[in-house]
Amino acid sequence: MDIAKKVLQKILDAGYEAYLVGGCVRDYLLKKIPKDFDITTNALPEDIEKVFFDYRIIRTGIKHGTVTVIFENEAFEITTYRRDGVYSDHRRPDQVSFSTSLVDDLARRDFTINAMAYNEIEGLVDFYEGQKDLEEGILRCVGTPALRFKEDALRMLRLLRFSSELGFKVEEQTVQGLFEQKSLLEKVSKERISEECTKLLCGNNAGKVVVRWIDVLGVVLPEILPMKGFKQRNPHHKYDVLCHTAVVIDSIPAIPHLRWAALLHDIGKPWCYTVDKRGIGHFYGHANESEIMAEMILKGLKMDRDTIKKVTTLIRYHDVRMEAQPAIVKEWLCKLGKETFEDLLLLKKADLAGQNPLNGKKDRKLAELCNVTNNILESGQCYQLKDLKINGNDLIEYGVKDGEQVGRILRHALKNVMKDQVANEKEELLQFLKEGRLI
Ligand code: ATP
Ligand code: MG
Repeated sequence: MDIAKKVLQKILDAGYEAYLVGGCVRDYLLKKIPKDFDITTNALPEDIEKVFFDYRIIRTGIKHGTVTVIFENEAFEITTYRRDGVYSDHRRPDQVSFSTSLVDDLARRDFTINAMAYNEIEGLVDFYEGQKDLEEGILRCVGTPALRFKEDALRMLRLLRFSSELGFKVEEQTVQGLFEQKSLLEKVSKERISEECTKLLCGNNAGKVVVRWIDVLGVVLPEILPMKGFKQRNPHHKYDVLCHTAVVIDSIPAIPHLRWAALLHDIGKPWCYTVDKRGIGHFYGHANESEIMAEMILKGLKMDRDTIKKVTTLIRYHDVRMEAQPAIVKEWLCKLGKETFEDLLLLKKADLAGQNPLNGKKDRKLAELCNVTNNILESGQCYQLKDLKINGNDLIEYGVKDGEQVGRILRHALKNVMKDQVANEKEELLQFLKEGRLI
């Protein structure tokens, strides 16, 4: 904040108006550390460039009046007061025009809590009772909600995202506007949908928000809708699929790929439902179905390949039974790698948190699995080829020529080390292979 004040001061000293505005003011009042600092001013971009002539400047947003100034290693987005023109694509104004008044600039902002400005001369400028809404935990549009959502449909997703991040309620007219305009969410680009949904999912109140606003989220993620109210008719489950999913989301760390895996892990269930003779519901094959659907959804949202791979792998194995035996755990560690296997344990744990505890047997088995895993990792036991104390060159020295054969022998050695049939020591390993006539 101190650096931000220095930046403001430089603009004020040059004779212009300048305020911190939007998210950083909101976060400051909430005693949170702002993610970024936005400054609004009556100075034009070229004026700002003159004020900061001896600083690094990034001119990417200059068309919209934004100049980014790097000041003491922090980026400040400095934007000229703006008035937005007509919005014909429900996403971006056809044109923006600069304005000479702060009033115009605050009127174009989305929510009252995001429409406050601050500088040391005037203190807090709050035309829309944003501070009151902040204290009462309310999200309210600036102006008429239905119109504001119609102008820019992205605001509807931002609304749900802020509700998840801040745990705020949505004011009644804003709720109505949201339901009225929700179909316009189809106009929002896939990239922005995935960005906002990821932030929503990583919020502290994500589970509650997903359940409360499922019909709105269903416009951008139609595949999640069938989970709503889908009864499981199984003693292991006390929630319907959607409410179960919400608990799983809230029970896993707020890291994007984990939260996406939680949201989508059971998405295939409604398509795999069967009822047995006793009237008990089953979902055979749901993990594979969910994986296929998740891949389609995330690709559709243009998510990066690494995230898609992580999410789909976690979903594929989330329901696989794993015995808490060191040799078996090592095989999983070898197959998935340490990070993914540890993520999988987190997903399994969160999945259980959303089930019926019954007699706690599943919880005990999972705790055991985690213990065995921790032991293996903490004591640095061997579970992958690169941990093995022999390598391809050792085998070549013994005359193994064929590359594929080298691989086969090393994997055989690894398997036996993991089963404790032979110690992971060079001499012993070579002896073991000689005895087996493999070298
Ligand atoms: P975050 O903490 O995620 O950065 P933020 O509120 O700062 O949240 P930004 O995208 O950085 O969000 O936008 C900065 C400010 O710009 C907002 O606080 C709001 O005043 C305004 N704003 C951003 N997007 C919109 C929009 N789609 N419609 C109207 N105003 C917007
Ligand atoms: Mg911001």
